[in-house]
Amino acid sequence: MVGWPVGHSRSPLIHKYWIARYGIAGDYRREAVALQDFPAFIANLRARGYVGANVTIPHKEAALRLSEPDNRALAVGAANTLWLEQGRLRSTNTDVEGFIDNLDAHAPGWDKALEKMVVLGAGGAARAVIAGLLGRGARRVQVANRTPERAQILRERFGAAVQPAGWDELMPLLDGADLLVNTTSLGMTGQPKLEIDIRLLAPRAVVADLVYAPLETELLRQARARDLRAADGLGMLLHQAVRGFLLWFGITPEVTPELRALVERDLAER
Ligand code: NAP
Repeated sequence: MVGWPVGHSRSPLIHKYWIARYGIAGDYRREAVALQDFPAFIANLRARGYVGANVTIPHKEAALRLSEPDNRALAVGAANTLWLEQGRLRSTNTDVEGFIDNLDAHAPGWDKALEKMVVLGAGGAARAVIAGLLGRGARRVQVANRTPERAQILRERFGAAVQPAGWDELMPLLDGADLLVNTTSLGMTGQPKLEIDIRLLAPRAVVADLVYAPLETELLRQARARDLRAADGLGMLLHQAVRGFLLWFGITPEVTPELRALVERDLAER
């Protein structure tokens, strides 16, 4: 994991678990690399003994620029995973499938008859979520953001299927919505609350929250209290790690209850 800072990342825990489980003679390390040192670092990945890397803040855009991205990284405009392919440095963005695979795991069939989808937030995570939803055939995604201009920029990136809205338009958007996704940092430990009433959502709506600290956010609590299906941020974090491991080590790893419990314990301790 290459970032600055990099100490908070749970990715080492996840990949080390799989490395041990599949008996791979390898390792997954944290590398604290400052912005100006990033190009030289990734240019010499192989010489440093690496077959690839995860990339986090502040390097995701540089990782895209300095590699050969796949369509997912291009759609999101940022890369979080690098791998070496016949000497070429390739990149992708695994948050896209992390989000979608987590929904498939926790709310199978979520994508049948989706008329009204609402995404809260318009940052990097929202771009991955929207790319995933459009890739799954969504024809219309309403994006509500505190700064409406950023939601408008997403329409320019993804096209007319994205319908930008301001935060003050939230109530009519939620009315009858089938899918609600929080991609803002609201509700996260140390951040302001996500003040939202989900009683207006459709009776069989699915709710996803990307925030994973706390594990059960107030949004997810409200969803479960209403008996709605819910997909949490930790599930996305675990599912997004799968393809990186596959690209580096050639094995599709399993997201097991044991792995989830391991990361849950770590989240509870910090
Ligand atoms: P980002 O690019 O900084 O975007 C943050 C978003 O939150 C923006 O839409 C911002 O609105 C909104 N926001 C922040 N404070 C707000 C407030 N007080 N009121 C209203 N809106 C507010 O961050 P990001 O990379 O998209 O990440 C967002 C969240 O997703 C973080 O909590 C991150 O941990 C989580 N995430 C989870 C996973 C996972 O695997 N579970 C993966 C990626 C990200 P403005 O545009 O108005 O500033």
